Amino acid sequence: MLSQMAKNLVPYTAGEQPRDRKYIKLNTNENPYPPSPSVQAVLRGADYAALRLYPDLDCTELRDEIAKKEGVKRENVFVGNGSDEVLAFAFAALFDKEKPVRFADVTYSFYPVYCALFGLSYQTVPLTQNFLLNRKELCGGGGIVIANPNAPTGLYENVSEFVGMNVPVIIDEAYIDFSRGQSLATAAANSQNAVVVKTFSKSYALAGMRCGYAVAGAEIIDGLNRVKNAFNSYSVNTVTQAAAMAALRDKEYFNGRIADVVRTRDAFCDTLNRLGYACAPSQTNFLLATVPDGNGEKAYRFLKENGVLVRWFNAPRLSDKLRITVGTDEEMDALASLLERREK
Ligand SMILES: *Cc1c(COP(=O)(O)O)cnc(C)c1O
Repeated sequence: MLSQMAKNLVPYTAGEQPRDRKYIKLNTNENPYPPSPSVQAVLRGADYAALRLYPDLDCTELRDEIAKKEGVKRENVFVGNGSDEVLAFAFAALFDKEKPVRFADVTYSFYPVYCALFGLSYQTVPLTQNFLLNRKELCGGGGIVIANPNAPTGLYENVSEFVGMNVPVIIDEAYIDFSRGQSLATAAANSQNAVVVKTFSKSYALAGMRCGYAVAGAEIIDGLNRVKNAFNSYSVNTVTQAAAMAALRDKEYFNGRIADVVRTRDAFCDTLNRLGYACAPSQTNFLLATVPDGNGEKAYRFLKENGVLVRWFNAPRLSDKLRITVGTDEEMDALASLLERREK
């Protein structure tokens, strides 16, 4: 008793969240550190009786805080229940059925799923040999989606030329806080065509809270609100709004944990290369390493059997690689010992 759409839909495959045993979990790019202690204070002090009320459906205070951080106005900010939801709304708000959307062949694998959900067509544009964008080929369709830094390559590129084009462009900056690159949020707010999407899940360590946002010109923000209010007006709950606000305000803690992850990341990248797991410098909180014998699946299974979960993609150009989330130094040491043993 299912619709044709539901029957045919191929959903996104998220990284495993196993319950059978305890793993060193380096497979879904979660932050290894807890969120700011001020988030804990918010949770402890939360007024449970107020939960009988619906949340602020406009997320006014949180949008003001985000606007301050991004140097834009409240009307340039949209907040959603995780950036996956914001991305879904953006696909619905920006792209038309007749004109195929273009994105890279190696990028966030949720993009084709949104296209399928909304009946949009798409064309994938192969990244270059070095896993960089083929900029010319990305243009010419009905819209463009770019993850920057890209996942799972971990590479950052300056994509400012896409802001101000005459096609709608979604720039997914889920990992920008771990990069040395500049966010295009302010530029997007001053444009007609671009929307920058960000998340609290990775750099703010709030994956369990589900909060993401978009920064764009007022027309695109209005479009996102129209889609949201046609689907679920109260998509961001009261506790999440307060927690995200607290996390944003604690800049010192945020900067400290980013520095910790970046330091561990760069050191582990060197370790991987020393062990023969070729790995380019990453601008994210994960590393993409090529397995010495080219068998990514076998390496993934070996690590899982030994208590370490990483991500392996059964996909062209990726099947000889592992995507490894940056954990604590202790976790990375444990992984390094395992890889060393395997290659001896
Ligand atoms: C993790 C991730 C997201 C989704 O983040 P949520 O806010 O947790 O939904 C979006 N885009 C990319 C590229 C990601 O890796």
